[in-house]
Amino acid sequence: MGINIQSDISLKKYNTFGIEEVAQHFIEITEATQLLDAYESGIFEKDFLTLGGGSNILFTQPYAGYIIKINIKGIKANQVQQEIFLTASAGEIWNDLVWFCVNNNYNGLENMALIPGTVGASPVQNIGAYGTELMDIFYSCVAFDTLEGVFRIFYNEDCQFSYRDSIFKSEQKGRYIITEVTYKLHTSPSINSSYGAISTELEKRKITNPTIRDIAEVVSFIRVEKLPDPSTVGNAGSFFKNPIVSAEQFKKIKTLFPEMISYDMPDGRIKLAAGWLIEQCNWKGKVIGQAGVWKNQALVLINIQSATGNEIFELSSEIINDVYQKFNVKLEREVNIF
Ligand SMILES: Cc1cc2nc3c(=O)[nH]c(=O)nc-3n(C[C@H](O)[C@H](O)[C@H](O)COP(=O)(O)OP(=O)(O)OC[C@H]3O[C@@H](n4cnc5c(N)ncnc54)[C@H](O)[C@@H]3O)c2cc1C
Repeated sequence: MGINIQSDISLKKYNTFGIEEVAQHFIEITEATQLLDAYESGIFEKDFLTLGGGSNILFTQPYAGYIIKINIKGIKANQVQQEIFLTASAGEIWNDLVWFCVNNNYNGLENMALIPGTVGASPVQNIGAYGTELMDIFYSCVAFDTLEGVFRIFYNEDCQFSYRDSIFKSEQKGRYIITEVTYKLHTSPSINSSYGAISTELEKRKITNPTIRDIAEVVSFIRVEKLPDPSTVGNAGSFFKNPIVSAEQFKKIKTLFPEMISYDMPDGRIKLAAGWLIEQCNWKGKVIGQAGVWKNQALVLINIQSATGNEIFELSSEIINDVYQKFNVKLEREVNIF
């Protein structure tokens, strides 16, 4: 099929922050085999960046290399007794896949309804929301090795999944281009409504025996209430990860701030709510120039209208600094900076 290289392409519509930067070269991939053509052309020996929906990226400068935009489509399901092995191509929209599953009664994705972005990016930061993480239902993925020019299969145990992290975001960052992902789902429901906001909303709706459709609808409703819609307010969701601290450090902070919000981790460490920490530093709703902190959720940084990537980045640095000064906790950015 070959590849079509475009030049000097505006990235504004390709990132949910709506940042105006330009890519020197831009290639859209609609079939996995085109990656072999790109490899043969020597493109992966130069600077390149794989792009899905651009919902976890902040561009802070023009991209002087090749943007590889993944737009491969297709979904197929393979049922083995009570289990569904659902394979989706990397360019499928994540939320469309969630609703495909709800409509077919495939259980497992419903708590992650309305997360923006593509299937191909879903393993990269082990997406998660409302009590579920991708690693819970990820079976395998096919990824193109841009160093060796071959396709490889990664099974769950190969991916080094942890909270908002995987081998694709850390050890092998940028090396592999994921072309399809297989999820292991179930035909019998195992509803996860333990997350506070979900159970409260179910109660309000007087739903005592929720279906996966109820969960997907409730999660979507809560998300719309809390998060800005990138089509009207540029953002990339949570800008920071929730920091994880040792039990010892937690005790020290909790003595000073008894009302602090926290979650126990299975390994004995404690996860703190980054949004709460930021709020305590009085950042919620603040605006500096064209960059701001979302009024309903301090974890989310926003583009007021015409922010540069650097304005957003500088705001994030100020927040990291203030949280560190007050709590001695170093926030890490969840969003990929380029
Ligand atoms: C309003 C809003 C709410 C959000 N809520 C959540 C949430 O609840 N939970 C959550 O986890 N995330 C959330 N996010 C972040 C984002 O939606 C996810 O990280 C999503 O998986 C990013 O998908 P994408 O296709 O847009 O990736 P991109 O932003 O295009 O890319 C993200 C990273 O993945 C890499 N990448 C993309 N595609 C591929 C591929 N095919 N192969 C290899 N690498 C690839 C990129 O190089 C980049 O490093 C939210 C974002 C927004 C805007």
